[in-house]
Amino acid sequence: MSENVENVIIIGSGPAGYTAAIYTGRANLNPLMFEGYMAGGQLMLTTDVENYPGFPEGIMGPDFMMKLKEQAERFGTRVQTRDVTAVDFSQRPFKIEVENETYFANSVIISTGATAKLIGLESELRLMGHGVSACATCDGAFFRNKEVCIVGGGDSAMEEANFLTRFANKVYVIHRRDKLRASKIMQDRTMANPKIAFIWNSEIEEILGDKKVSAIRLKNTVNGETTEMPIDGVFVAIGHRPNTDLFKDYLETDEVGYLKVEGASSKTQIPGIFAAGDVHDPVYRQAITAAGSGCRAAIDAERYLESLGH
Ligand code: NAP
Repeated sequence: MSENVENVIIIGSGPAGYTAAIYTGRANLNPLMFEGYMAGGQLMLTTDVENYPGFPEGIMGPDFMMKLKEQAERFGTRVQTRDVTAVDFSQRPFKIEVENETYFANSVIISTGATAKLIGLESELRLMGHGVSACATCDGAFFRNKEVCIVGGGDSAMEEANFLTRFANKVYVIHRRDKLRASKIMQDRTMANPKIAFIWNSEIEEILGDKKVSAIRLKNTVNGETTEMPIDGVFVAIGHRPNTDLFKDYLETDEVGYLKVEGASSKTQIPGIFAAGDVHDPVYRQAITAAGSGCRAAIDAERYLESLGH
C-alpha cells in the first residue's frame, strides 16, 4: 500500500495552496493538489490586486492565480481540478475521498479558504443572478447606467463600490452602523467618489421584485423606521465564512469555523495536518499573508515528514 501513499496532499488552491505547492514541490515532495472546481479562490473574483509586493503596476487576480499555478506545476505539483468530498483523519495514512476515488497521504495541507457570506433573506436567494450578486467583479458590467447598492462597511464593500462606478450611474453603500470598518485609504477613496453615496445605520429588510430586483426595503438600525427605495441591483459584501465543513469531525475550529492552529505555526491538533490561508485566518485575510502561511505549512509538512523518516 505504501506505494500509493502521497507525501503531501494539498486541499484547495488560492495563494496559500499554490505557495504550499511551490515549496513542497521544490522540496521534492511531489505534492498532489486538489485545487477544487472553484480553483484559485477569492482572487478569481477580484480585478486589480494592487497591494501584493513585486507588482508595482498591480496584477489582475485571475492572472495572478494562473501564474502561481504555473509556478507550482513547474516544480512538479500534480494539480487536479476536483473537489475533495470527504476526509478521514482518524487513521494513518490520512484518507482523502475525491468523488469515488480514495487517496492516502502522510501529510495534508488544508487551504480551502473562505466563501462570501449572504444576508440571509429568502428574497436574496430567489433573486440571486436576477439583480442580486455577491461578486461585483463578476456581475458589475450588467449594471451599466443603472443604480445599484452594496451592503457592507469593510474593504471589500469599498473596493466593490468603486469598481461598480465603472458601470453604474449611482452606487449606494448600505452600512448597518455609522462607522466604516474599511481601511482609511479605502474609506477616503470611496468618499471622494462622486458616484457613491452612503446610507448609514441601515439594513436591507427585504429585496423586492418579481423576476428581477426592482427595490429594497431598508430598516433603520437606530429607530426601526422602514423605507422603500427603487434599485436595479443589490451587491452583498459582508465578509466570508471559512470552508471547514469537511474537517469539522476531526479538527478544532473557533466559534465561526476557522481552523485552530498551534501558535504561529500551521499545525492543527493532528500531527501531519496543516492549515494555510483564510481557512485559519480570521484576522489578516490578505493574499500576501495567505501565501506566507502556505510557505509555513509547506515547511511544517516537510519537517514533519522528515521526522517520520520519509
Ligand atoms: P469585513 O472586514 O469582515 O467587513 C464586513 C462588513 O460587512 C462589516 O462592515 C460588517 O459590519 C458588515 N456585515 C457583516 N455581516 C453583516 C450583515 N449580516 N448585514 C449587514 N452588514 C454586515 O469583510 P471584508 O470587507 O470582506 O474584508 C475581509 C478582509 O479582507 C479584511 O481584512 C479586509 O481588510 C481585507 N480586504 C482588503 C482589501 C484591500 O486591501 N484592497 C480588499 C478587500 C478585502 P460591521 O462593520 O458593523 O461589523
